[in-house]
Amino acid sequence: MTHVLHRHLHQTPPVAAGAQGMTVRDASGRTYLDASGGAAVSSLGHGHADVIAAMHRQIDRIAYAHTSFFTTDVAEELAQTLVRGAPAGTSHAYFVSGGSEAVEAALKMARQYFVERGEPQRTHFIARRQSYHGNTLGALAVGGNAWRRAPFAPLLVPATHVSPCYPYREMRDGESPRAYGQRLAAELEAAILAQGADRVIAFVAETVGGATAGVLTPVPGYFQAVRAVCDRYGVLLILDEVMCGMGRTGTLHACEQEGVVPDLITVAKGLGGGYQPIGAVLAQGRVVEAMSRGSGFFQHGHTYLGHPVACAAALAVQQVIARDGLLQKVQDDAPVFERMLRGALGGHPHVGDIRGRGYFWGIELVADRATKAPFDPALRLHARVKRAAMDAGLLCYPFGGTVDGLRGDHVLLAPPYIATREDLQAIADLLAHAIGQATAALA
Ligand code: PLP
Repeated sequence: MTHVLHRHLHQTPPVAAGAQGMTVRDASGRTYLDASGGAAVSSLGHGHADVIAAMHRQIDRIAYAHTSFFTTDVAEELAQTLVRGAPAGTSHAYFVSGGSEAVEAALKMARQYFVERGEPQRTHFIARRQSYHGNTLGALAVGGNAWRRAPFAPLLVPATHVSPCYPYREMRDGESPRAYGQRLAAELEAAILAQGADRVIAFVAETVGGATAGVLTPVPGYFQAVRAVCDRYGVLLILDEVMCGMGRTGTLHACEQEGVVPDLITVAKGLGGGYQPIGAVLAQGRVVEAMSRGSGFFQHGHTYLGHPVACAAALAVQQVIARDGLLQKVQDDAPVFERMLRGALGGHPHVGDIRGRGYFWGIELVADRATKAPFDPALRLHARVKRAAMDAGLLCYPFGGTVDGLRGDHVLLAPPYIATREDLQAIADLLAHAIGQATAALA
């Protein structure tokens, strides 16, 4: 009997009893190779001595101080570190306790920016289908996952959803990737004009799509065209890098690879690497200046903003990533990992697409490779793959609804940046085994 309200009310998951490096151990002694860092959280693996030591030092100094009374050295140093590594023009970091909180804060900051500037008629957000921005009501409202939204739809602020950048399914025959990206930017422009150009607050998008459709990498030129459309109508660009940011794709921020500077970036998961719950909004100077010249404060706040132990953990994680050259390692390993995945999975009759960047990969599963027809959702293939993988000692992150929120299955891989090439090969091999087992059971 459990008194924890678990995610699934009919299943109690195994008890996690210990973890070190790439390995998690449950209470029965079974070990798992962590190929997804939970949900793309664990950037340094488990039990990193330097991070744990930094947290101990911070707890001994001061474990908590409310941000309406105090700042702390550790929050100041983390903000300085993040601003230094962020795109040009970034001036401040606003620290929260996770990804959804970061998205909520970004939405409110964007709205307040326009209120301060005397444009209170801007009330509308535009985002994308097949996206995920979190489970709180504001984040759910901009999120484009039909299944997650459905029960709560009457409670959500209105938002318009345009097409994701999903070449495997939505790029037309004969269309070049660049032309596809331009078409999507034109769709965004039409959506802005349909709302009224002076009524839109922001376009919200994951730079590399994550959990909903299984790692959607943008086509070349797409985000530059999006940035130009936003600029044309004074619409802010909010890039949600909660999952794809903080080194996951090989650069600290995924938008660096797109050659665009968003107005607000949300980060979380890899920021603290799972050692503490922490997220942040990284804001361009002009957004902060508008609030500074106007009301003089950001009308938001939570009890645990800038929690000192969370900041200490995040600072240590970021320092280890820099000290150990892990971004370069992720970049160097990416083509090797891709070759391993294609080698182990590319020939499988139910693997439709393998896509990704850095240490962030999605494998889309199909019933028929030629037609790209997905499996019947009632089969819950993604859940079968997850079970088969755990039985084989692998933690990966499969999900359903890849195509449209209902149909389709994918597996998301997001190993810690400390993974060796032997680990990466083991991940590819174990996943091939799990997909083989799960799909064979359906034959
Ligand atoms: N945004 C993105 C892109 C995410 O992937 C997630 C979580 O998966 C969130 C926001 C929400 O983050 P959290 O679960 O920490 O609230």
